[in-house]
Order: sequence, then structure tokens, then C-alpha cells
Amino acid sequence: MKISKLYDEKFTLSFEIFPPKTEQGMLNLFKELEILSRHNPGYISVTYGAGGSTQEKTLDIAVKIKNDLQMTPLVHFTCVGSDKNEIKEYLHIIKENNISNILALRGDPPFGEKSFKPGENGFSYANELINYINTIEKFNIAVAGYPEGHIESKNLDEDIDNLKRKVDEGADFIITQLFYDNNDFYNFIDKIEQKGISIPVIPGIMPVTSLNQVNKITEMCGAKIPNKLITSLEQCKIDDTLCEYGIDYTIAQCNELISWGVKGIHFYTLNKSSIVEKIIKNLNI
Ligand code: FAD
Repeated sequence: MKISKLYDEKFTLSFEIFPPKTEQGMLNLFKELEILSRHNPGYISVTYGAGGSTQEKTLDIAVKIKNDLQMTPLVHFTCVGSDKNEIKEYLHIIKENNISNILALRGDPPFGEKSFKPGENGFSYANELINYINTIEKFNIAVAGYPEGHIESKNLDEDIDNLKRKVDEGADFIITQLFYDNNDFYNFIDKIEQKGISIPVIPGIMPVTSLNQVNKITEMCGAKIPNKLITSLEQCKIDDTLCEYGIDYTIAQCNELISWGVKGIHFYTLNKSSIVEKIIKNLNI
């Protein structure tokens, strides 16, 4: 099933999970996924660890999601640390497992390094990876989009020109980096439409739970935190405990996006169902 087609048919919820490190973590994950499956997600995306560290686990989990839970997996893939032949081999394995949706990414530079260096005979940018994938196998291809611009790019316009390269190589839909201010998403959509990009763009939403959490994430990806959100989170007495205000903020953010007309919402679940469930139950869908 091609995920991009789902967005033509109906509003679609989807969830991102990551491969746990331990057996217990894996058992917990599948319990959480069973709970999330009650909300009829269009698909579950499975991340790919830095430096390709979770390649096998990513695929194993995706296969289990498909076979045991009868849900559609979207496998993330980065070109970090892989050469063309390894990528080719992995793409064949994914296809042999009847998985036909892939999120094609360049990936981040290894920890401590400032710039991305491609492996020998590897790729420097996601658009090159997409071009290559299309010469090997037919996949429905998702790519990453950055409403506030990618952290390495000079500005949003330059980053959107590079997003267009991915679309021109055959990307089928875009999932965005998390953001806290919907105006950044609306501005991004205006700009990409002006560039002629018309494939579905799905907002990636990370539920807000505490100021500490928001600060940590922002440090990693550069997303802005609106003052209103900071002030309210500061009022939550004990940091790192669940802040109800944060959940209400995410509910309001999602409901505004839904009334604006987004085709779906992709939740970064961090492998937990309870907060995401709470949010979904309060959405106007
Ligand atoms: P690219 O699209 O290649 O862009 C990287 C940078 O290069 C940008 O600044 C862009 O403007 C610039 N650029 C792109 N093409 C060109 C070109 N042809 N010439 C010059 N400049 C160019 N990381 C993981 O390790 N595992 C995951 O599972 C994972 N999942 C993610 C899921 C989503 C939805 C998102 C938004 C991100 C995810 N990431 C993941 C993070 C991602 O790997 C990083 O953000 C990475 O730094 C960029 O990957 P990309 O595919 O967007 O790169």
C-alpha cells in the first residue's frame, strides 16, 4: 500500500517509534503499539539509528508491525556510513520483506563532527539517495521537510530549493521536523507551493511534556519555542514531571492545524502511547 495515496482518501494519523535497546523495551513497545493501533493509524514509521546503528532492528520491527499487527510500516533509512552496494543490498532486503514505503534521509554527521561526510562511494544528500533508490526498486518515498529551515542551511529559501531537489527526484510525500508555532508551518507551505511543490506535507508533532524536554529537543533540531509556551511551562512546578499545560498546548496546536486543512498528523511518540492517546481523544477529527 502506498502511504502517499492515503492522504488523497482521508485525514490520516501516523506514529513514529524508535527501536528500543533491550528485549524488555521491545516488549513494552509492542504493548504501546497495540494501544496506538486502536486509533487506526495509516502507518507506523520506524527510525534508523545514527550511523546505521539500528539497521537490523529497524527492519525487524517494521516486519513485526506488518505481520503481527497488520499495520503499514514506513522504514526510515539514512545514507550514513553506507556505500552504494550496501544500500542496494539493504533496499533489496526491505523489498523481499514486502515493505514498500521508505523515508529517505541523508542523516546527521556523527556525534562531535560538524559537517556531513559521505562514505566512499556513498551519497552527500538525500536527493542523491532518492535518485539511486529509484534505479534499484520501486518504493513510495517520504522525505524530511523543515518548516524553520534545516539547521545547516543558510536560510529557509535555500533549504526549500534543496527540498525541491528531493521532490524532483520522485519523493511522494513530506513529513516535517517538529515545530511549536503553526505560523512557521503555514509560511513553509506558502513558500513550497510557490516553488511548485504539491505533494502532501504532513506536520510532525512532538507532544509537549515539560520545559526540560522542549529545551533538549530544541537544542538538537533548532526549533523555536514561542514565549507563550515557555512562560506557561515555567509555571509547571516540578520540571520533568508531566505538564498538563504542555498537553493542552499540543491539543490546541493540532486542532488549529486540522481546521487549517492538514491531510494528517505524524506524532513523534517516543515509544509511549498515553500522552499521544490523550491528545488524539481531544482532536476535532
Ligand atoms: P538533506 O535533504 O540531504 O539535507 C541536508 C542539508 O543539506 C540541508 O541543510 C539541505 O538544505 C542541504 N542540501 C540538501 N541537498 C543539497 C544539495 N543537493 N546541494 C547542497 N545542499 C543540499 N535521522 C536519523 O539518523 N534517523 C532517522 O530515523 C531520522 N528520521 C527523521 C524523520 C524526520 C521526519 C525528520 C524531519 C528528520 C529525521 N532524521 C533522522 C534527521 C535527519 O537525518 C537530519 O535532519 C539530517 O541532518 C538531514 O537529513 P535530510 O534527509 O533532511 O538531508
